Amino acid sequence: MIPQEVLQFRKAYESNIGKYYSGWVHGAFTLCVFLGVMVICIAKIETDFSEEWLTVPIVFCIGNLTEYVVHRYPLHHPMGMLAPLFRIHTLQHHQYYTDQAMEFESSRDVNMVLFPPFVIIFFAVIFIPVVWLVLNFLVSANVAYLSCATATFYFLCYEVFHFSHHCPDASWIAKVPIIARARRVHRFHHNKRFMSLYNFNITFPFSDWVFKTEKFELPRGSSS
Ligand SMILES: [Zn+2]
Ligand SMILES: [Zn+2]
Repeated sequence: MIPQEVLQFRKAYESNIGKYYSGWVHGAFTLCVFLGVMVICIAKIETDFSEEWLTVPIVFCIGNLTEYVVHRYPLHHPMGMLAPLFRIHTLQHHQYYTDQAMEFESSRDVNMVLFPPFVIIFFAVIFIPVVWLVLNFLVSANVAYLSCATATFYFLCYEVFHFSHHCPDASWIAKVPIIARARRVHRFHHNKRFMSLYNFNITFPFSDWVFKTEKFELPRGSSS
């Protein structure tokens, strides 16, 4: 049963979602852009097994740490010019979905989970080419393509995981073991009392393990 305050917030937020918005189109657009960037990058990679392949785990770790730091700080604390991130994440996403109401009610609710299309376009058209130019200049074309492919894959993982965390409990994706575990962690993060303290990795919990901020249950003596 969805709490009254969540229902009220969702109703009030509804006017911010365009009349013709479709969560399916939003998801398909995100998927197509990310897969397109990955295919272009992977097609250009030279397949000799040199140490350049170390780029993949390194960029993966950087992605995990970035996800953690951005979520832990600007997304949960108003920080100067980054305050809009706090507004969208803490004041909107965390009001729209709480640990008592994690699931989509309709495909329009995807609007409050996936990154907006302009961010995806910025990532594909500005961020990735700039990263490619810098790494191609400083290191090599292979490292540049490997980095861009891995970064795009990581961003896609983020979107797929976060989407899955808000799918209905009965959906097939909720039962995939790695997703099921991450859903439990993310549900705990959506408890308003603990959202700025625990579970900042949406995808793989490596940084939460390093900084000891992963939690599944309430601390002893607490109540929700
Ligand atoms: Zn969420
Ligand atoms: Zn959060």
